Amino acid sequence: MWGRLLTCAPIANRRKLLGNQTVPVLTQCHNKELQEGPIGMPAIRVSALTKTIQTATHRVDILRGIDFDVQHGEFVAIMGPSGSGKSTLLGLLAGLDTPTSGHIILDGEDITGLDEDRMALLRGRKVGFVFQSYHLLPTLTAEENVLLPFELTGGNGSSGRTRARELLESVGLDDRREHYPVQLSGGEQQRVALARAFMVRPPILLADEPTGNLDSQNGQHVLDLLISLNKREGTTLVLVTHDPLLSSRASRLITLRDGLVVPNP
Ligand code: ADP
Ligand code: MG
Repeated sequence: MWGRLLTCAPIANRRKLLGNQTVPVLTQCHNKELQEGPIGMPAIRVSALTKTIQTATHRVDILRGIDFDVQHGEFVAIMGPSGSGKSTLLGLLAGLDTPTSGHIILDGEDITGLDEDRMALLRGRKVGFVFQSYHLLPTLTAEENVLLPFELTGGNGSSGRTRARELLESVGLDDRREHYPVQLSGGEQQRVALARAFMVRPPILLADEPTGNLDSQNGQHVLDLLISLNKREGTTLVLVTHDPLLSSRASRLITLRDGLVVPNP
């Protein structure tokens, strides 16, 4: 069902599918729609966000009250020393983890307090994720890996395959479609992961040190592809990085230190 609706279903249908959501739901055909979002709402709003972990012996305040907005189509880099809470923050934005307090509003929808099923649905349609260590499924070919988000959201038929091939071509891997991850270099695997992240046109793409495991040449190539796909698809991009060269390409920088946002000078 999702797959059919993910293609060019009329907006009214797509709204209906998700009940009374105020969000423009799916964005397969119209990037303009994707960039605009609900009137007046940023793509991401984080307010008073905290994350505390209580272990048997002590308590770790990982995030201690984070506030920021990211506008539609923006490319924001998050920097900060190791241990400052960057990955925790990104995991919360992706709905992979739940905050201790505070709110995360994606495209006008408050994701804090959603149950597992709704969270999974939201992740599938709203957020793409690129990890430092690629996270490709070893038993699937490059093309099957790229197709996976489409199939997980109920898609089938040739439109998905066409899109997967087009994306693999965009990242320069059209001749590696049938290769398994183990037959690909690190840079190639990350390019497959990029194609996969864009497969269902998520309005928001989150990337946690996507070039961290690559040498500088491959890292540069992956970054160029990420930025060009981001522009082409009209995605809102939030990228965690240690690399000042990478962050210099962003439209805005958010710096974390000890679980807090450092005010810009
Ligand atoms: P960064 O990505 O900026 O390096 P992280 O978000 O991974 O930082 O981690 C922030 C801090 O929280 C670190 O000190 C880390 O050790 C701690 N931390 C993260 N996850 C857990 C956990 N599950 N239990 C205890 N401490 C954690
Ligand atoms: Mg990290």
